[in-house]
Amino acid sequence: MKNQYSLMIHGGAENSTKSEADKLRYQDILLEVLQQGREILKKGGNAIQAVERCAILLEDNPLFNAGCGSVLDEKGKVEMDAAIMDGRDLSAGAVAGISYFANPIRLARLVMTESQHVMLIGEGAMRFADICGLQRMPEEYFITPERVEELKQVKLLGEVLLDYDQARQEEANKYGTIGAVALDVNGNLAAATSTGGLINKKFGRLGDSPIIGAGVFADNETCGVSATGYGEDFIRTVLSKRVSDMIEFKNYNAQKAAKAAIEYLVRKVNGRGGIIVIDKAGHCACQYTTKHLIHAFIEKGGESVCRF
Ligand code: ASP
Repeated sequence: MKNQYSLMIHGGAENSTKSEADKLRYQDILLEVLQQGREILKKGGNAIQAVERCAILLEDNPLFNAGCGSVLDEKGKVEMDAAIMDGRDLSAGAVAGISYFANPIRLARLVMTESQHVMLIGEGAMRFADICGLQRMPEEYFITPERVEELKQVKLLGEVLLDYDQARQEEANKYGTIGAVALDVNGNLAAATSTGGLINKKFGRLGDSPIIGAGVFADNETCGVSATGYGEDFIRTVLSKRVSDMIEFKNYNAQKAAKAAIEYLVRKVNGRGGIIVIDKAGHCACQYTTKHLIHAFIEKGGESVCRF
């Protein structure tokens, strides 16, 4: 598909019920981010540029579970995962288990373009970030009193959670992993996913977000995908690649492929979460098993739409 661009972003899968005021707040933010992505794509910018830009804006917003809004692990630390993929040549970059850096997606892109590798983890990834000149942020940038309280509550329940709802704390705040998928006017697809992971996760645990084919995938011949939810479920089902395979081998469009993949996720592992997908023809789709998946999209250069 040439000459028409599409863009999708998400702010995570969750089970919580949002107030109308909260919905408006999220909507304003998502539409603003979408607009910035649109500016890039409208001018003929690359899909990879657009998804990186959108992901950075979402990482910089403490409402989301990524970058400065990342949830805390069992030790009360922030350990973030992110990945980006370019559908032109399947080049990809990922980082996992990193702290201190405001924009893991930027580092993932540097891994893709400036190293010979696809994934760097922990200390090595952070050393690479230093070499690339990325600035380290103080711990307070990530660890907010709300996050400390949230971890305390989840620890009391002895669980590892995507959001508070399973804890039946309806009035508490909820946060979500972020992702972006774009198709540019030259027919190139790209996808990005960034997360702080699950609340109270084990120290050293990696989710699906940095795993190519699980939490993120892009191939110009099929689609771009970004996932959110319980990462273990998406890793075991290699879900993002499955969406791409549905399009390649069954000739499905984004909607049909997303639906079939989420059915598979539920059937095989009773998986929890969702995906956003743009296919090579520019169709946008979103499917999820949770109550909500906050997302916004522009389909084939059309108007901006936000959905919960
Ligand atoms: N998928 C992420 C993970 O498991 C969490 C999320 O999507 O909120 O790390």
